Amino acid sequence: MTRPVLLITGASAGIGAATARLAAARGYDLALGYLSDRDGAEAVAIACRAQGARVLLLRADVSDPDEIDEMFDRIDTGFGQLDALVNNAGVVDVASTVTRMDHARLRRMFDINVIGAFLVAKQAVLRMQRQGDGGVIVNLSSAAARLGSANLFVDYAASKSAIDTFTKGLSDEVAGDGIRVNAVRPGIIETEIHAKAGQPDRAGQLGPLVPMGRSGSAEEVAEAILFLLSDRASYITGTTLDVTGGR
Ligand code: NAP
Repeated sequence: MTRPVLLITGASAGIGAATARLAAARGYDLALGYLSDRDGAEAVAIACRAQGARVLLLRADVSDPDEIDEMFDRIDTGFGQLDALVNNAGVVDVASTVTRMDHARLRRMFDINVIGAFLVAKQAVLRMQRQGDGGVIVNLSSAAARLGSANLFVDYAASKSAIDTFTKGLSDEVAGDGIRVNAVRPGIIETEIHAKAGQPDRAGQLGPLVPMGRSGSAEEVAEAILFLLSDRASYITGTTLDVTGGR
């Protein structure tokens, strides 16, 4: 039996890397996207191959439409099929009020987190429709979409709110093709994203304030993503699943 082919963007670190390792163990072949962390991506690829997965490493900036197209060309050549997508690549910026956010910051945030996610999903859906065999997409939203993230990163929160709406709208468009589209909304998860936003101890500081009294791990988010990808979620589409410890 052939293994389903799964594309994960942002697979060199954090939630994407944990999802790749779990997906390899659950029987997927993998196209793994990354941007700058070649060593991280290589390490994930080695771990996935050790689980028997075929792995294609793809450097592509999801804010660049041409690089997205090239990434999908390489998937076509390398695998000749695409069955599933985890639309995970994303960024957050340093803490700021809205009044201090400039145009460049907002462009980067929405180019990567929103337009990138749209264009990656578009290319995936086109292939799934052509194959005629259904498919499944999991987008990465955030609890910030509900909370608004005042005085921190309202731009990021708004970008993830757009992902929630995108998830519902796209799911309705492609349900008739047998393609399911859902999102997960992680809460405070221990990854490097907080350090990249200038708050390396964010998970440590906020963990105790979460109803469950702790931050979450990338592996706990990966479990939710793998559930939504699986046939056990066969009647679930157009929804968002909070993975937040109750936050
Ligand atoms: P992370 O550890 O910082 O990893 C981010 C990944 O995205 C990396 O693989 C990075 O690639 C990739 N990436 C960033 N910009 C990119 C671009 N322009 N093109 C292609 N790839 C790009 O982040 P994470 O915490 O795992 O977050 C993963 C997703 O979960 C994001 O969408 C994030 O918003 C969401 N999320 C995270 C949390 C949390 O608390 N951690 C909470 C809610 C939602 P390189 O490293 O190779 O450059």
